[in-house]
Amino acid sequence: MSFTLHGIPVSRGIAIGRAYLIAPAALDVDHYLIEPAQIESEVERFRAAQQRVHEELDALRADLAADAPSEMGAFINVHSMILNDAMLVQETIDLIRTRRYNVEWALTEQLERLSRHFDDIEDEYLRERKADIQQVVERVLKALAGASGSLVNGVHGACDEMIVVAHDIAPADMMQFKTQTFQGFVTDLGGRTSHTAIVARSLGIPAAVGVQHASALIRQDDLIIVDGDHGIVIVDPAPIVLEEYSYRQSEKALEQRKLQRLKFSPTQTLCGTRIELCANIELPEDARAAVDAGATGVGLFRTEFLFMNHKHRMPEEEEQFEAYRRAVELMNGLPVTIRTIDVGADKPLDSMSGGDGYETASNPALGLRAIRWSLSEPQMFLTQLRAILRASAFGTVKILVPMLAHAQEIDQTLDLIREAKRQLDDAGIAYDPNVQVGAMIEIPAAAIALPLFLKRLDFLSIGTNDLIQYTLAIDRADNSVAHLYDPLHPAVLHLIAFTLREAKRAGVPVSVCGEMAGDPSLTRLLLGMGLTEFSMHPSQLLVVKQEVLRSHLKTLEKPVADVLASFEPEEVQAALKRVAQA
Ligand code: PEP
Ligand code: MG
Repeated sequence: MSFTLHGIPVSRGIAIGRAYLIAPAALDVDHYLIEPAQIESEVERFRAAQQRVHEELDALRADLAADAPSEMGAFINVHSMILNDAMLVQETIDLIRTRRYNVEWALTEQLERLSRHFDDIEDEYLRERKADIQQVVERVLKALAGASGSLVNGVHGACDEMIVVAHDIAPADMMQFKTQTFQGFVTDLGGRTSHTAIVARSLGIPAAVGVQHASALIRQDDLIIVDGDHGIVIVDPAPIVLEEYSYRQSEKALEQRKLQRLKFSPTQTLCGTRIELCANIELPEDARAAVDAGATGVGLFRTEFLFMNHKHRMPEEEEQFEAYRRAVELMNGLPVTIRTIDVGADKPLDSMSGGDGYETASNPALGLRAIRWSLSEPQMFLTQLRAILRASAFGTVKILVPMLAHAQEIDQTLDLIREAKRQLDDAGIAYDPNVQVGAMIEIPAAAIALPLFLKRLDFLSIGTNDLIQYTLAIDRADNSVAHLYDPLHPAVLHLIAFTLREAKRAGVPVSVCGEMAGDPSLTRLLLGMGLTEFSMHPSQLLVVKQEVLRSHLKTLEKPVADVLASFEPEEVQAALKRVAQA
């Protein structure tokens, strides 16, 4: 039966394919007693599932991308070891033999026993192994059920027509999709600018989030259409609907091909104003897509993604340095803006659990996030700063600092940058002494108290995702309030316009690197407010460029002023229409 689900569009385009469900592991399994004569075949069933998971782990290990965090390999090894451990394997077999439990029951019973044991352990590292054992058991259960063992493995070897459907996907898991092929994705949870959505957008595939109950209503292998422009998911479409969407899909492919022609033309408005279009990246290798799309630099390198999937430690200075240098070299002389780690909120690190109170923070988006966390971990921060500075010897590097609000935070950060330079000087290591330091303007307080920033920093970058979140008090990752997340709210527009105007007046370069910069429907508005430097996912670059090439700044002046003078939603909409037609 065909039905349609509605969610939030986060990545444009149309995908048609078979649903691949990533279900949370079903630990609630059948419980039944087997006959004595079935014992050996039940043990054999367990052994076969164990073998299958071994093969999956081996395949996963062999397929690790060259730039995958090194902890990924260690993590797979730990799972292989657990899979052979007598505490899990022998005890489960004993339960099958002595109590005549079916294998699923025996396995979950043994997991429960082990978990109780682990709960009593004082050592935090060992206690955390409980999660690993649980994941291994989940893999075996899935193998017993004939499904693939994990999110990563599930996608491994996927055919091109696959669309991932999940309740939720953590940003760290989303990163693993970068090395896989699939057509689109759908999740029950999430908001337009949740980090999961942002990573999905960087993959350039159609996606919808906040599609409530999608993972419960869609079944494995269902034929589905994802309309990433409108956030619509059509399950089991009628032939005529399928035909219509196939047609639209080919039209879009044609549009994409046409856009490629713009790649080499300079980015300037009809009146000749040069506009910089830079790229947002999450991993060094993303710089290739940036160069391919014709970006004139990296405006935002979200370094926290390098820190994810590192189970128990931060990457060493050397490892970070290599990653930053790689991005710089791939950009081949073009500037690379490296943002210091922005963890917390919807991007927790594995190592943040434990004594720092992060897990118990009642509102992590307002808690120890981004620069606040870095300043609370000065040694970690210095390590990152040294690594970034060292990369500056290989090209043009700028340092961008997230979530600053207070003068003393800026001053402490600048002090630590000076300290990192001193340490490199003492060690005789090269770096660019004139490396520029900039701030994200993403907390309303920063925008309102802009002179604090203009006086102290070399450049600014407006993070509209958080600026909207904090101005409107809307959790950007919470789909229950997603309808209130409004980039066009007059308060948001005023903060952006004010920041652009004041920075220009002070002669401080300013860009926008939030998702608004990559939304072609907002390009004219931002140009009219005076923005000349945009940074966005490479996949958005050409469509934004097309808008720039069609715009004339003079004709935008009046309608954009009208937008800013409007407060009633209808007036704002009417003025925006005039912006679009200018
Ligand atoms: C932003 O907040 O707009 C931004 C670019 O940073 P992030 O999305 O990583 O929080
Ligand atoms: Mg931000």
